[in-house]
Order: sequence, then structure tokens, then C-alpha cells
Amino acid sequence: MRPIGITTTVPVEILLAAGYKPVDLNNVFISDPDPDRLVQIAERAGFPQNCCTWIKGIYGVCLDQGFDTVICVTTGDCSNTVMLMEVLKLKGLRVIPFAYPDVPDPHQVQSRLRALAESLGTSVEAAEEMRGELGACRALTWQLDELTWKDNLVSGWENHLWLVSSSDFNGDYREYERLLGRFLGECRSRQPYAEDIRLAYVGVPSVFAYDLYRYVERQEARIVFNEVQRQFSMPRPGDSLAEQYAHYTYPYSIFGRLDDILPELRRRQVHGVVHYVQSFCHRGIGDIIFREAIDLPVLTLEGNADYMLTPHLRTKIEAFLDMLRRSRRRRVPGDSMKGNSYGLSA
Ligand code: SF4
Repeated sequence: MRPIGITTTVPVEILLAAGYKPVDLNNVFISDPDPDRLVQIAERAGFPQNCCTWIKGIYGVCLDQGFDTVICVTTGDCSNTVMLMEVLKLKGLRVIPFAYPDVPDPHQVQSRLRALAESLGTSVEAAEEMRGELGACRALTWQLDELTWKDNLVSGWENHLWLVSSSDFNGDYREYERLLGRFLGECRSRQPYAEDIRLAYVGVPSVFAYDLYRYVERQEARIVFNEVQRQFSMPRPGDSLAEQYAHYTYPYSIFGRLDDILPELRRRQVHGVVHYVQSFCHRGIGDIIFREAIDLPVLTLEGNADYMLTPHLRTKIEAFLDMLRRSRRRRVPGDSMKGNSYGLSA
């Protein structure tokens, strides 16, 4: 199968039906032993200092690993991708734009799917068959998620890693299914986690993910909901590919994301929310809406090109967890734990 780069989650069933091996360029970038090296490739090419690290990392991966075809999501992810696409074209890569519609309407999604399928020389019908083939794999990701929040047998990092990898199934969905099935078997024989603070993580995956989850767990807390990563696993598959990608919340309005987030916070008995924002990312403005809509304390963490938590961020996390513990101790049933009412300016 020919590798094809993707800049974010796309209807991967179409790529597989067309005989491609999808590779999520974000995951390649962040799992590189030296991600700075990839960012520097972009900066040497002229990407500005104040451009998001993920965009620069994706560019660095494309050039470093010699990808010749990349699917760039031009609507529903990142406005920077439009210009990234132009630069990749300039460098001689074949770039295929994919645009989610403005609204999650299955009819509109269907026409975008058809256009993508045609440009890759396949059909939506063939992709529907592939959707059936991926069903077992996706079902395992949902089990993993349930084992995380309900049975308390999976760490926040493990949850993140498996779910974030479901954008491309690490390039080999059969192997992914085999390894995840084995991992879930191991998890079922564990002792449950018994932390006193349960957190949710909303926003794009962070550049310092490993350190963040590990640090939170060292503080006797655990992330039991990874919002965007869970969405990559298509938790509401619907009856067709068009419905599946209309139910996928990330590309559409933040209010649609809240319709997913708020019930999950209650269902998973979350005490506080970490909202990650990437420096120079337009999505950071959504913090205003999350703080207004989420009836729990929210800690906003910003990351740029720091792949480990800085001492400043560690202190903020510790203070947040401390505040949650104190407020839980003095909380009267029925009280709201609303956002900044505890004076924590995150
Ligand atoms: S973090 Fe924001 S700016 Fe960076 S690639 Fe993602 S959407 Fe774009």
C-alpha cells in the first residue's frame, strides 16, 4: 500500500479503499525522538516563529520522510493548513484538499466523501465496505474508553495514545486491532485505579502529552475523558459513512462539541477540566466558550514547542488539583463548582 499523509482525521475508510496506507503526520511528528529537528526544517524553509508547532512539524515530516501525497483538511480543522498546502505544492508534493462541510449535515458530508473518493480513484460504496471491516477495530477503542472511565483499569495516557492513534490506526488497522485486543486483555487483570480526582481533557492533543498525563497521575489524579482523541475513534458511527462523519464533532461548531462534552463530564463523574490550547492557534479563543458553558473548574494550559511540562505549568496543575481537593472537601451537595468561582485564574 502506498503511504499517504493526512494532516488530521479524515474519512480514512476512503483512503484504505483506494489502496493507500494513511499516515497521520501529527503522530509521526510528535513521536519522533527529536521533534525540534522537524520544526527546524520548517523554520529554515521560512515558516514564521509565530506559526503553530504542529503545522511546522507536519511540514518537517513531509520533507524529512519524503511523502509524495498528502491530504490537507482545508475546512473543519485549521486555517493554517491552506497555506501549508500551497507550500507543499511548491515543493512538488501532490496535495489533495478535503473540506468538511460547515454544518454536520449527512447529505453535505456525502458529497464531500464522493469528491474525495473520486480524486483517489475509488467510490463511497467501496469505502462503506471498508467501514464494515474497521468495525471490530473501532469497537475495541470504545471498550478501551469504557475500561478507562467506568472500570478504572486504563490510565489517561494509555487512553490518549490508543485513541489518538485511531486517526490512522498506526498505518495498519489489522495490527492495531491485534495489539489493542491483547492490551485490553492485560488491562482486565489489573487492579483498578483509585485516585480521588478525575479530570477531563478537552482541546487538541498537546505537545507535552506524555509528561502531562504522567504528571497528573503522579499527583493522584487521572484523566478519564479525552475529548478530541475519543472523537477520532468515531464513537457515534451511525448507519453510514456520511452519518459517521457528521456525528464526528471536531470539524464543526464548538457548540456541537459541547453537546458531546457536557453529558460525558457528568457520566464520567469528572471533577475538573483541563483545556489545552496550542500557542498561535485560533481554537484558543474557544476557551471563552468552554469557561462559560462548563459548570466545573477549568484549567487552561498553553503549549508551544515545549515537549515536557515547564516548572510553571507543573505548578499550575498542582494548584488546580489542590483547589479541586479543597473544594470537594467543603462542597455542600447541590453546590456548583463553576469555573473561576474559586479564584483560580488558570
Ligand atoms: S493546534 Fe491549532 S493552529 Fe495548530 S494545527 Fe491544530 S488547529 Fe491548526
